[in-house]
Amino acid sequence: MEDCLFCKIIKGEIPSKKAYEDEDVYAFWDISPTAPVHILVIPKKHIAMLNDISEQNSSVISKIYEAIPKIAKENGIAEDGYRVVTNCNKAAGQTVFHIHFHLIGGRELTWPAG
Ligand code: 5GP
Ligand code: ZN
Repeated sequence: MEDCLFCKIIKGEIPSKKAYEDEDVYAFWDISPTAPVHILVIPKKHIAMLNDISEQNSSVISKIYEAIPKIAKENGIAEDGYRVVTNCNKAAGQTVFHIHFHLIGGRELTWPAG
């Protein structure tokens, strides 16, 4: 996707602070963090949002969830706890239309989310 911000980040056309990378998954620090640890975990292949997950592309979601505990441990939040959030579409506050998983931790998190 030529106009996609996160595709540009994956290609290195826009700089990012890398937290993790493998064949299918890239993770980088959020530019506007809401907690001491706020990392975005994304598939390298463009998928716009959760509504677009299907039997054909859902294997990358397992890869993302395999990466998340590794990233959490590496950044010292696995023991205390963390939250993983995906905003799907406008009413949920999705602003970048390349699916991403916010990995948030390093402080006490309130619930329910707003
Ligand atoms: P959404 O609102 O779509 O769930 O989350 C998009 C996230 O991307 C936001 O938390 C925002 O701070 C982050 N973001 C937007 N542009 C950039 C960027 O250029 N670099 C990085 N690292 N994060 C970004
Ligand atoms: Zn994209």
